[in-house]
Amino acid sequence: MDASPFDTELAEERRARLAAERLLQQKQSELKTANRKLNEHALSLSDQIVDQRRLMQELKGENSQVQQDLADANVKVVEVERLLWNAIESIQDGFALFDKNLNLIAANHPYISVLEGAEHIGPGVHFDSILDVCLDEGLVDLGDKSEDEWYDFMLDRWTHDVIEPVTLRFWNGMYVKLVDRRTNEGGIVSLALNITDSIQREEDLREARDKAQAADRAKSAFLAKMSHELRTPMNGVVGMADLLLENDLDEESQLYVSTIKSSGDALLDIINDVLDFSKIEADRIGLKEEAFDLERIVQEVALIVEPTVQQKRIRLDVDYDQFLPTEFIGDRGRIRQILINLVGNAVKFTNEGHVLIRVVGLPLEDEKIQLHITVEDTGIGIDADKVEHVFGEFNQIEEDANRKYEGTGLGLAITRRLIERMGGEVWIDSIKGEGSSFGFAVPLPIATTREATISALPDSLKTVLLVGPASVNQSVLRRQINLLGCKAEFCESIAALPEILNATNPDVIIAFQGQGFEDLPCVIDRTKEAASNIPIIALVSPADAAKIAEPTRLLTKPIMRSALFDKLLDCATEGNSRGGNNRDPKPVVMKPAKFRVLAAEDNKTNQLVFRKMLKNVEMDLTVVENGREAVDAYEKVDPHMIFMDISMPEMDGMEATAKIRKIERQQGKDPVPICAMTAHAMDGDKERISDYGLDYYLTKPLSRQALTGLISAIKIRTFGPEEDEPVSKEA
Ligand code: ADP
Repeated sequence: MDASPFDTELAEERRARLAAERLLQQKQSELKTANRKLNEHALSLSDQIVDQRRLMQELKGENSQVQQDLADANVKVVEVERLLWNAIESIQDGFALFDKNLNLIAANHPYISVLEGAEHIGPGVHFDSILDVCLDEGLVDLGDKSEDEWYDFMLDRWTHDVIEPVTLRFWNGMYVKLVDRRTNEGGIVSLALNITDSIQREEDLREARDKAQAADRAKSAFLAKMSHELRTPMNGVVGMADLLLENDLDEESQLYVSTIKSSGDALLDIINDVLDFSKIEADRIGLKEEAFDLERIVQEVALIVEPTVQQKRIRLDVDYDQFLPTEFIGDRGRIRQILINLVGNAVKFTNEGHVLIRVVGLPLEDEKIQLHITVEDTGIGIDADKVEHVFGEFNQIEEDANRKYEGTGLGLAITRRLIERMGGEVWIDSIKGEGSSFGFAVPLPIATTREATISALPDSLKTVLLVGPASVNQSVLRRQINLLGCKAEFCESIAALPEILNATNPDVIIAFQGQGFEDLPCVIDRTKEAASNIPIIALVSPADAAKIAEPTRLLTKPIMRSALFDKLLDCATEGNSRGGNNRDPKPVVMKPAKFRVLAAEDNKTNQLVFRKMLKNVEMDLTVVENGREAVDAYEKVDPHMIFMDISMPEMDGMEATAKIRKIERQQGKDPVPICAMTAHAMDGDKERISDYGLDYYLTKPLSRQALTGLISAIKIRTFGPEEDEPVSKEA
């Protein structure tokens, strides 16, 4: 059967409804999914919003902190700027800042205030306006510059990278130093320093220095003058007293005269000390560098104090390290002076016991030796708390105790300064009542030593007998004899001589003067009687050389190793050829002409002193009154030696010497020994004098010993020692 249209329609309707229901379901499911997604998205958005809000909140907080900080910083900058400017305003010196176009940015009050009457000067003004004010108002001393030159100079300064400071003097006497620097931006910072006070101080100092220098020059001139003026009459006083002492005086007169003499000597010592000290004070002590024999100097010093040592019945020993070189380079005069001071003091302050001079050395680099010289004594000693005090000026220990001892209290002060000037140091050890030891160390270069050339003595010479008292001479001789490889024996009492001769069987005898052996010629005669076949050498001071008769050999003090060697060698040779026979007859020698001496001296008293001092010296003496006469007399007399005063009218001694030297050169003659006699004792005089060709130098007051010693030495050099020439025959 066929479906009715109704049924078909119904079926279709059912099918359509089912399809619609399916579609609805599908759409509902899609809608659900979409809703879910939407919800999820909404949720995440709301989360984001919450986050963003929180972030915004935080940022807002930070921003207000930054704003606060910025405000604070601004306040601080203003504060610092104000402080800085206050500071710049408060300084007394001027300060200004210019931009790179040289327009003033700012300047403090002191800077502006010097530009008097220039109200228009302020920030924005160009530097050249400031210069204009200076010129227009006449504020600045332009020195030797014109206005234009000064203007250009001031502008030009600022064109340099490094700007040199300049000092300006203002009309009111103010000095301003401009110190300018370029800033990183190309501008200029200008400091105007008020240096009026320091310039004033400098001026005051310069003035004070000029005054001090003038005073110093006046002092030196005064000292030189006084030294000369005091020494000249002192020569008369001391010289005449010396001569008077030789006369037959009664005891009282003898006392008076010797007091005059010793007071004169003491006065001269004081003059010398004061002179020396003022030279050291003025830093005018120059140290010489010359080769000298240290051992010789030590011996000379020992000889100088020997008479006092004998008189005080104490002992003086010299211990010169036998491995130490003897020749050094340094200022011999000053070393001698230091030694005389220390040894002189030791002897002065020692009344019993001994004084010992000890010389040792330590090698340094560069052929130098650190010399250690100590002077020990068993004298009065010094309290521990006063020990350092002794090196001060005019310091003497225990006023009362010192009254017994003469002195200026300057010796050690001078000594210390001299040693320090030589780069050395000085020290002292002392125990009150037991003794003192003064020591010093100085570094000195070694000079080529002459001693090295001395060879050995012949084996036949083994023993040398020293006839004389225990003394410096004895100890020096003993040491030197041992150094030459011989044995030294001693005879300290003339009565014991025969016995000692037997016991020691010496090859040579050396006799010397001293306590118990005062009359050396007599000692020699006695020795000859006891030992006729043994060669004898007499050790004498140059002044006594003439007292010893031939054929005794003479050895003059101070004892030099080389001279001792020569004499001993001489004796050894004689001893060898002696063999019991008489000596070879002495070769006949031509009697040389008399020793001719020329002396130039203008002062009549000093002429007299000179003549009298040399009255016993056999010679032809010509005395003239000035340099011109000396040159004339030189040609007429042809002297063997000349004594030349330095300050003389018409022609002084230096000029006269130079003229004589010229004549000698022209005539091809050997130079005659010329000795300066001068009252000048200032440093440098000796050099000045020797520059003129003078060979020797004696300061006034002259000593008879120095004069006769020098004459004997020159005589021996001229005529030879062994010849039968006319020598002085002193009473
Ligand atoms: P003075 O000219 O008085 O000797 P110094 O400067 O040489 O002057 O010495 C200063 C002082 O040091 C002396 O006065 C003395 O008191 C003391 N003095 C120096 N050397 C010695 C010494 N060897 N023994 C004891 N005292 C000494």
